[in-house]
Amino acid sequence: MDTTTTITPLGGDVYEIDTRMAGFSGITAGYLIRSDRPCLVEPGTAGSAPVVQPALTELGVGPGDLASVVVTHIHLDHAGGVGDIAEMYPDAEVVVHEKGARHLASPERLMRSARMVYGDSLDSLFGELKPTEATRIRAVEDTGVIDLGGGRRLESHYSPGHAKHHVGLIDSLTGDLYVGDAAGIYIPETADIRPATPPPDFDLDTALRSLDTFRSLGPQRLLFAHYGPVSTVRDTLERSAEELRIWVDTVRDARDRGLDLDHAVAMVTDRTRDRYAITREDVDPELAAKYEILNSAESNVAGIMHALDRHA
Ligand SMILES: [Zn+2]
Repeated sequence: MDTTTTITPLGGDVYEIDTRMAGFSGITAGYLIRSDRPCLVEPGTAGSAPVVQPALTELGVGPGDLASVVVTHIHLDHAGGVGDIAEMYPDAEVVVHEKGARHLASPERLMRSARMVYGDSLDSLFGELKPTEATRIRAVEDTGVIDLGGGRRLESHYSPGHAKHHVGLIDSLTGDLYVGDAAGIYIPETADIRPATPPPDFDLDTALRSLDTFRSLGPQRLLFAHYGPVSTVRDTLERSAEELRIWVDTVRDARDRGLDLDHAVAMVTDRTRDRYAITREDVDPELAAKYEILNSAESNVAGIMHALDRHA
C-alpha cells in the first residue's frame, strides 16, 4: 500500500499527520506533540498505522520514544489503530476515557456492533481494532493529566454528547485544544462546519454543555480530528453549537411529520444545503463524497432521531 506521509508543522512542536482513513487524504488527522515525552493524539484507523509509523520515524520518534497515545474517543476512525500503534511503540501508555477503556482492552463487542453498522465495508474503512494489554491503558475520568515532559502537560476534559466516552485535551504550552468530534467536522477547503451526531450516544444538551466546557478552557486554537487547526476559536465554537441546534430542530420537524429516515434525510439535506459551501457547484464533488463517507447526513439524522426517541 501507499505509505507516503503528509506531515504539517503547526508550531509549538506540534505536527499534523494525515492518517488517511480508507486511503482518503485530508479527512482524518492525527497529531504528534514532539515534546520531551512525545505524545500521539488520535492514531486513526488500523489501516492508518502503516502511515503513522513512517511519519513518526520521519519526525525522529523511534519505537522506544513514544511516551503516550491519546484518543478523544473510541470510534474506529480515531482509535481503530491503537492496538497496532501500541505494538509498534511498546513503551507508550494509552490514555482514554474510563467509559472507553475496556473496549480497547477487549474490542470484540465494539467490533461486533461496528460490523452491524458498516457490514463488509468495515474492513476497507477501518480494519480490525487489536486489543491492547490492560496494564498499558490509563483511564481518565472527568479530568486527567498527560505529562509531556519539561513541565508541559496535556489536560483532558470529559466532553460527552457526540459519544459518551469523549474527552477534549488542552496543551498547557500552546493552548491547543484537541476537540475530537465534539465540535463537529471542520472542512478546511470550504471552512464549513457540520455537526457529528451519530447514534447511539448523541445528545443535544450534553453536547452543548461540552462546547461550554471547551469555551471555558480559553483555548488559543482548535485542532479538529476532521480536519486540522482553526484559530477563530469563539466563532467556531458558536457555529458548532448553532449547527447542532439547526439540525436537531430540522430533524424534530421531520419526525413530527412522521417521515421515515430516508425522507427525513432528504428533507434535512435540502433545508441545510445553503449553509455549506461544500455543496456549491464550483466545489469538487469528490470533496463532498469523501466527507459523506466519514460523516454522512444519514448517520447524523439517525443519531438525532434516536436521541429524540429517547427523550419522547
Ligand atoms: Zn470522527
